[in-house]
Amino acid sequence: MAASAPSTGGEPDPNNSTNLRPPGSSYDAWCGVAHGCTRKLGMKICGFLQKNNSLESSFRERSAKTLLDHQETRFRHTETDFSNLYARDLLPAKNGEEATMQFLLEVVDILTNYIRKTFDRSTKVLDFHHPHQLLEGMEGFNLELSDQPESLEQILVDCRDTLKYGVRTGHPRFFNQLSTGLDIVGLAGEWLTSTANTNMFTYEIAPVFVLMEQLTLRKMMDIVGWRDDEGDGIFSPGGAISNMYSVMVARYKYFPEVKTKGMCAAPRLVLFTSEHSHYSFKKASAALGFGTDNVILLNTDDKGRVIAADLEAKVIAAKQKGYVPIYVNATAGTTVYGAFDPINEIADICEKYNIWLHVDGAWGGSLLMSRKHRHKLSGVERANSVTWNPHKMMGVPLQCSAILVRERGLLEGCNSMCAGYLFQPDKQYDVTYDTGDKAIQCGRHVDIFKFWLMWKAKGTIGFEQHIDKCLDLAAYLYNKIKNRDGYKMVYDAEPQHTNVCFWFFPPSLRGLPDGKDKRERLHKVAPKIKAMMMESGSTMVGYQPQGDKVNFFRMVISNHAATRSDIDFLTDEIERLGQDL
Ligand SMILES: *Cc1c(COP(=O)(O)O)cnc(C)c1O
Repeated sequence: MAASAPSTGGEPDPNNSTNLRPPGSSYDAWCGVAHGCTRKLGMKICGFLQKNNSLESSFRERSAKTLLDHQETRFRHTETDFSNLYARDLLPAKNGEEATMQFLLEVVDILTNYIRKTFDRSTKVLDFHHPHQLLEGMEGFNLELSDQPESLEQILVDCRDTLKYGVRTGHPRFFNQLSTGLDIVGLAGEWLTSTANTNMFTYEIAPVFVLMEQLTLRKMMDIVGWRDDEGDGIFSPGGAISNMYSVMVARYKYFPEVKTKGMCAAPRLVLFTSEHSHYSFKKASAALGFGTDNVILLNTDDKGRVIAADLEAKVIAAKQKGYVPIYVNATAGTTVYGAFDPINEIADICEKYNIWLHVDGAWGGSLLMSRKHRHKLSGVERANSVTWNPHKMMGVPLQCSAILVRERGLLEGCNSMCAGYLFQPDKQYDVTYDTGDKAIQCGRHVDIFKFWLMWKAKGTIGFEQHIDKCLDLAAYLYNKIKNRDGYKMVYDAEPQHTNVCFWFFPPSLRGLPDGKDKRERLHKVAPKIKAMMMESGSTMVGYQPQGDKVNFFRMVISNHAATRSDIDFLTDEIERLGQDL
């Protein structure tokens, strides 16, 4: 029993987390914990946040400054010889405080250097090496694990080199993934989260974070358009898992006995999703015992949007065979084309046949925050569940994904196991805040804080500007290349999201007659250009084939550091590298 454990913190610290003020100010919330936990490390970041927070009262600035001066005299960053220092010399070692502070300040130096260079366009996006090269070991950097402890000097080198051989996903010219960018406040949130190092399962051990999660989910559900008496949700380890939750909850809604009896308690169930939808629906079907054969793929138009009439025809056909249609996914922002399925038309069919409607907004859900673009999800409030990934379009550091469910009680009913050692019903507080039993996980990472902190720091309006800016950049790219020599769009229309899909024809291919030979050569162009980009480290963009279409570039923009000049750089680079292919 840990109930009466004495304080283990050593000397009492006046700046400890008892200072944590009510969540009225992000600066307070952050600094309350940061001061208590990491002193100068916390102060460094607080100072930065404070400089950027004009709302802070001068009183707080003064008191923080006094504190800073005090800390400065206690822990000045000194030239420390780490070659004779080891992990065992750090806290909780006796007299380990000085070594700990010097070590952490050194780490902060490494991180802040990396951050500075990430935003410097003269820095490479990556320093590419093949797996065998990294495995064989680079100068001073060896991945092997050793029996004997290595010095902190080596540990610092390892930190530096790990970043050196990685990919700068926050670089303004990194366009490879849907999650890009390095948000400074989000990063501060992630640092705090690791420092707090707690677990989301109960209010008991994550009181502030659990409330932040509830409050943020409510805000997201308001934005979706659900009534005050509707809506439930949880943050999950990514969109694929959020989508899996939606399938589980739908099955529980129609066949709750599957929870105890298994799939033999249900007839043959079928799910519907577009041929362009994310592969996570097939994964969920495999993992949950539906089987991938029972995922029926829907046809799309040339822009990648589901054809609603095809859904109805396939629902009728499935029923005629005696199958039970229970679930339809409509994607808001497909992964490749960025297409938005017509939610209202699909919702009509779901209502008519009593089928669960899920909206996969992992990529496009964030457009709900933009007054200009949210019409693309019109009808989303009719969905029974929605996936929304703040870690994609909103630039929240990985990972941060929410599953929202309109009907209350289903998540809990579907997943709860009431483990006696965590979810005791006779605690002294309102145990409805022990939300962890809604999850399929036991331990759950705190994904909420960085998102909450960014929302505080930017305001809803800041996310809106970020999203509008990225969509403007995509339109800029589209308008630039749609009629340009050597380019051809994969589908001919304004991009619906920030995805811009196109082929580049090197000069040697331009005069060739259409046909098999030209297609085969074109298929090899994007991978070759991409390989050269990675070798030179200048930029990164994705490519892929789709259906009967040969490899094309899929440009996506979610990085708030990207500007028109970076878009120009990308096309220049494609043209330069593709010149002689
Ligand atoms: C990225 C994506 C997912 C999966 O999200 P993760 O967070 O990577 O698991 C699901 N659906 C769509 C449409 C996506 O673009």
